Amino acid sequence: MQAAQTRFIVRGIPTEHAQALRSGGHDAHGQAPLTSVARGLGNPCRHCLQLIADGDTKLVLAYRPFSAPQPYAETGPVFLHQADCERYEADHLPAWFAHLAPALVRGYGANDWIVYETGRVVPGAELADACRSILAREDVAYVHIRSKFNCFQCRVERG
Ligand SMILES: [Zn+2]
Repeated sequence: MQAAQTRFIVRGIPTEHAQALRSGGHDAHGQAPLTSVARGLGNPCRHCLQLIADGDTKLVLAYRPFSAPQPYAETGPVFLHQADCERYEADHLPAWFAHLAPALVRGYGANDWIVYETGRVVPGAELADACRSILAREDVAYVHIRSKFNCFQCRVERG
């Protein structure tokens, strides 16, 4: 498959996960999400994949972006809008991802294990090309994008 022709789809975390957490459901560590007031521009919501506005309330919680625990199922901190928002689903990355400096990107196999040769650290502006080239590999089922702090941002699949 030619990488340049690989189409992809980007989605925020499932709405049922976001709604359960907003309703007091436990996070991946079995704890209730914390609430905090967003300050500055570094507060991306993993459901709508937009930045939470300065002054808005956010949930802070541990998220495991895999369906089951296993050695590669990294769990880490994420933010969510406390208020309802619309799940992101599009054939392109959110525009603000271009400002991730840098971002981590890597592919996973169908068994949810990292495909090691795919791991990259790239400027945000190069993320779309990196996703296309990783998804062009037949041994990759999906891609995760993470911040430079290793915080999960979103999952990218073939479109
Ligand atoms: Zn949101």
